[in-house]
This record gives sequence, C-alpha cells and structure tokens, in this order.
Amino acid sequence: MAISRITAVLQSKCPRCRVGKMFDGPVYGLRKQHMYEHCPHCGLKFEIEPGYFYAAMYVSYAFSVAEVVTLGLGTAMLTHSESPWLYVVVLFAAIFIFAPFNLRYSRLVLLHYLTPKVRYNPAYQDEQAGENN
Ligand SMILES: [Zn+2]
Repeated sequence: MAISRITAVLQSKCPRCRVGKMFDGPVYGLRKQHMYEHCPHCGLKFEIEPGYFYAAMYVSYAFSVAEVVTLGLGTAMLTHSESPWLYVVVLFAAIFIFAPFNLRYSRLVLLHYLTPKVRYNPAYQDEQAGENN
C-alpha cells in the first residue's frame, strides 16, 4: 500500500521508496541524531551531492522564523509583557528546543519536496512486499 508523501516525511522515510528510514532513533533523545548515508531499503544516497544539506539551512531558517514569530506573538498575547528578557528567554529556549526537530525535518522537506532529482518510485516499495510474502 502506498504511503503519502506527508506521512513519509512525518515518519522520516526515504523519499524514493518511502519504506527505509532516513534517521536512526527518535527526534528527541539523549543520543545525537544519526542519519543514514544510504537508504537501508533501496540504497538511495541521501546526500545527493557533496554539501547538499547546506540547502537544508534555508528550510531550517524558514522553520526557525515561523517558530520564533509564533512563540513571540504567543508570549506577547498571553503575558502582555514589555520586558525584553522574557522574550529573550522564551525565544532562546524555543530555538534550543526546536533545533533537533529543525535539523531532521529540514532535510526531509528538502529531499521530499525541493529536490526534483529524487522522485517517489513505488517499484522500490513493492520490493519489500515481495520479500515479506
Ligand atoms: Zn529508499
């Protein structure tokens, strides 16, 4: 059964087969996040070109701006505070807390939505179905 692109992104799956995982382990944990070099299922090399994930910084930047603006406005509306220290503390905490999320999902969004070279190919997904039966 085909899984949707958004489900594949949320589950950190490979953009080509949507079966193999791109990352080992959960987003949040005590261990550093580990990204596989190649898809464990179809063998796609995730870093398509050397330094390819520098482009993920643009996606990560967009995530960070969205998070900071949302939390800044949320803090202002909830507390009505004019103290800059409250905003400094809240926003730095948010940047720190969202960093692992931004790392993982910026790369996933880059590969799933912004890389025309990498396309979903259901043939790779069906390979596993054959192996399991
Ligand atoms: Zn794959």
